[in-house]
Amino acid sequence: MKAVKGKRRVGVHYDSCYERHDTGDFHPESAERYRALIAAMEELADDVVRVMGRTGLPAEVMLAHAPHYHDLVYLDVESFADKLRTGDTAICEESYEVALEATGGVLECVDAVMRGEVDRVFCAVRPPGHHATADRGMGFCVFNHVAIAARYLQQEHGVGKVAIIDWDVHHGNGTESIFLDDPSVLYASLHEKGIYPHTGAAGETGRGKGKGTTLNIELPGGSDGALALEQWSELLAPKVEEFEPEFLMVSAGFDARRGDPVGGLKWEDETFAEMTRRCVAMAERWCGGRMVSVLEGGYDPAGLASAALAHVEALG
Ligand SMILES: [Zn+2]
Repeated sequence: MKAVKGKRRVGVHYDSCYERHDTGDFHPESAERYRALIAAMEELADDVVRVMGRTGLPAEVMLAHAPHYHDLVYLDVESFADKLRTGDTAICEESYEVALEATGGVLECVDAVMRGEVDRVFCAVRPPGHHATADRGMGFCVFNHVAIAARYLQQEHGVGKVAIIDWDVHHGNGTESIFLDDPSVLYASLHEKGIYPHTGAAGETGRGKGKGTTLNIELPGGSDGALALEQWSELLAPKVEEFEPEFLMVSAGFDARRGDPVGGLKWEDETFAEMTRRCVAMAERWCGGRMVSVLEGGYDPAGLASAALAHVEALG
């Protein structure tokens, strides 16, 4: 491990074990996209620290999921189902194990930051997580790693307030629903309007005690990164400032990039780099620099690799 004096230490986590989650032929959330991403991560300079993962525990999954949902995933995989019975999520006989590895990988990144080994980490895992609700897997997602990590930060590390910024092209309905009435977790999403999962209207702002700690920014299909950055300045930045988080998590999907086969926005690599720099500035201001970003979508393999590289380079 190399640390440059005066500079924040950046970590990355990736592992070929995540390729074992086999979604079948012609599925956009493929091992192929992940291999392209790994190849890009291997090009990174030596002063980026590789954080190694671990297997997550069922009890950790249950920090954000109902026990019966954890058991349902296990049983569906054990019975050789090709998709979760709760929704459009392809699985194979290794998917339960791989999903636990992915949760553990994210928690290990959180631990590495809290132990002070690194300041910020990009954690590249699959299957993704932000559509998974407390009791339902959907949208290619099995366990909601970011939601689990937020609860883990609070329960294992005594962190009070966690902000989750979600810039995947899709609304993270799972994460929103898990924290809808929780004032200790801010969920702020920028996403394309009118696409899957058809949630995340601007009027959804939280419920009960959590009123005001959910923010949804809907962007018109075909719009570019300039509009997203403008909305960020107008709506997202003041919301985070008002919240004053102690730890920053990012649901980092790259399917808003120009050319993505699933998303309809036209963000550039520089859009992701600028959003990253803004997150870094927020983390520096309120969180002692502490920030963990987690891969969600991004379905053009070359585009995903390029945008994720721009993201990690901007973390430093
Ligand atoms: Zn997405």
